[in-house]
Amino acid sequence: MRTPLIAGNWKMNGSARLVEEFAAAFAKASLPQKLDIVLIPPFPYLDAAQRAFAGTPLALGAQNLNAFESGAHTGEVSGAMLAEFGVRYVLVGHSERRQLYRESDDDVCARVEAALNAGLTPILCVGETLEERDGERTMDVVLGQVKVVMDRLDGAQRAKLALAYEPVWAIGTGRTATPEQAQEVMAGIRAYLKTLDTALAEQAILLYGGSMNASNAAELLAQPDIDGGLVGGASLKIDDFNAICQSA
Ligand code: 13P
Repeated sequence: MRTPLIAGNWKMNGSARLVEEFAAAFAKASLPQKLDIVLIPPFPYLDAAQRAFAGTPLALGAQNLNAFESGAHTGEVSGAMLAEFGVRYVLVGHSERRQLYRESDDDVCARVEAALNAGLTPILCVGETLEERDGERTMDVVLGQVKVVMDRLDGAQRAKLALAYEPVWAIGTGRTATPEQAQEVMAGIRAYLKTLDTALAEQAILLYGGSMNASNAAELLAQPDIDGGLVGGASLKIDDFNAICQSA
């Protein structure tokens, strides 16, 4: 059985104080026994978060990493640096990175490999735009984004990846995919993984992301192929994030 995973992507939000508040609240929260929880704050808060989250159920994630191990890459951060701060998960290929910072499929593949080399769990983000959905290209786009990465990895590496399906039109818009829409795409992802390896398909952790909140989480998480959530806006509020964790 797959362990559910709820990940909170703070994006370029939050503060050192919010890190402390989350740590204090989750240290005493009563949470489902079988649940992995990850908070993904901006880089400058990782050091404080590592210390504050010790002894709480919160694991630490990062929002991005560079594909290189070190060198003349001003402004970038390597996987080894993240690992030094207790980071265990790292987002790769978030649609905001693809759209606003022009990350290509090649960049995404290289970053996934760098994350694995640093011993981190990459959360590979995929999803279609509204235009692509309206043009009935959702499955082609999403599976294309998954396949390009899987083609570069061996079986052991594939097994270490988590995947997040985040329809671009649902991110930050308040327009969540219906449970049926999300399930349909995520079942398609799992069916594709099955063509690679049955055990991989059964074990792969698939997250839904896009306007997930305390009111819609339970219904989404009840779908057979949705193992968890990648939460943006609602992960900045302790009560909302806790409520989503309770639904998992
Ligand atoms: P929202 O939950 O704010 O829509 O963001 C989703 C997301 O992009 C998480 O990575």
